[in-house]
Amino acid sequence: MSAPRTPRPVALVTGSNRGIGLEIARQLGRLEMTVVVAARDAARGEAAAAALRGEGLDAVATRLDVTDGASIEAAARFVRERFGRLDVLVNNAGAAFDWTAETTQPSAVDADTLRRTFETNVFGPLALAQALLPLLRESPRGRIVNVSSKIGSIDEIGRPDSPLASMVAPAYQASKAALNAFTALLAKELRGTRVKVNSACPGWVDTDGGVPPWLRAALGGNGGAVPVEQGADTPVWLATLPDDGPSGGFFQGRKPVAW
Ligand code: NAP
Repeated sequence: MSAPRTPRPVALVTGSNRGIGLEIARQLGRLEMTVVVAARDAARGEAAAAALRGEGLDAVATRLDVTDGASIEAAARFVRERFGRLDVLVNNAGAAFDWTAETTQPSAVDADTLRRTFETNVFGPLALAQALLPLLRESPRGRIVNVSSKIGSIDEIGRPDSPLASMVAPAYQASKAALNAFTALLAKELRGTRVKVNSACPGWVDTDGGVPPWLRAALGGNGGAVPVEQGADTPVWLATLPDDGPSGGFFQGRKPVAW
């Protein structure tokens, strides 16, 4: 049975126990939303939600592994039964298994790495959007934000002079391109509804994912990666777009970027 609708808007952010996701949850909480900290490790999720509550924000944790269909169903049920509403879904959880010290070129990427990467970065976000869409459709301002990356931009990959040309992680790049395709496809399906769907590139952000230890060691620092507060800004902006805001776009620094 569904709970009566709570008066505050509710946002679910995947992978929000750390990194950019945690900061997105924090910024949405500061905008008076109830935040569902969705994390694959229950204890880490609860610790992050407790930290946000300690900052005076309204946050609860739920366990969610985006590669596990049963876990996706359970998280959707949790939101329905606890809040009776969902206004924002941020598909932030991501994995870059081939973002490693030893570069793997596309001609050598193995199928298992591709599969694992797509499970987390593409199939998970789509399955979660499908599971939560009934609630998002009931919201006065349903918003889906897919946290993507400009290194998955096909336009960028095709330009020899791209400043991102030296970044090679084919499984990760292809997965973000596929995620972007689903952003556009879902936005097209939802045209004429109150639900908006957009992709965000957070920029190069100083997190474990953006500057892993091997890279930090090679760079002797963070190489100029931006702080999480800045990385979270565009996803949060897209999560709180007004009714006349865009849908079906790809944005960085609140500006459109090429697919
Ligand atoms: P991060 O520090 O590596 O954190 C990744 C988060 O995703 C963690 O909370 C992790 O959980 C979670 N996660 C991974 N697999 C999951 C799964 N199967 N189910 C549920 N949660 C899962 O990454 P980040 O740098 O904050 O990046 C966040 C998003 O921004 C990702 O989608 C990434 O691709 C994108 N992005 C990042 C950068 C950057 O420079 N940092 C640039 C462009 C795009 P655990 O704690 O349990 O591992």
